[in-house]
Amino acid sequence: MATVTINNSPVHGDAIITYPYGVPDSGYQCGWHTGVDFAPYGNTENNPILYPVKKGRVVYINTTATPALGVQAQILDEDGIYWRYCHMVYGSLQVSVGDEVDLQTPIGRMGATGNVTGRHLHLEASRTQSWQCSTFVNPCDILGIPNVDNTIVKYDGSVTPPEPPEPPIPAKKGKFKWVLYAKKLRNRY
Ligand SMILES: [Zn+2]
Repeated sequence: MATVTINNSPVHGDAIITYPYGVPDSGYQCGWHTGVDFAPYGNTENNPILYPVKKGRVVYINTTATPALGVQAQILDEDGIYWRYCHMVYGSLQVSVGDEVDLQTPIGRMGATGNVTGRHLHLEASRTQSWQCSTFVNPCDILGIPNVDNTIVKYDGSVTPPEPPEPPIPAKKGKFKWVLYAKKLRNRY
């Protein structure tokens, strides 16, 4: 049983992959499992808060417990991939369409709304917002984790490194002096 630690897990605690992406499954229109399922693991609470796996913007929410995917939020990440967080607890959504989100923004709580057999996060990724069989991508590939049943995903708690500071603007006076000095040198030789 593999254990991986990442800083952009959807669960800021321990989670376990209970159903990998792409497993043949006639219960899905595509004929295979179009997402990857995460459940709480170890000491993680039953309905942990879910967080974005990528920085992005909320493009759709469903606040109702139906249909199949239940309470959900869709986030377009900064790389142009759409993410769908499904089956969340009714009433737990903490984001609205248009919200800018990062790895620390609570989305809602892992739940069991929609067509489910138990509480889990069904996480999907797609190249377009049409969520077609031909546009789904393997979320595990993007997250860099094994797409394997019973993989334990730990969260390392680190935050995204801040943007590097702007280079200091050289003082005009100094620059001016240097230009004068350079001119002097040029004149000399
Ligand atoms: Zn699923």
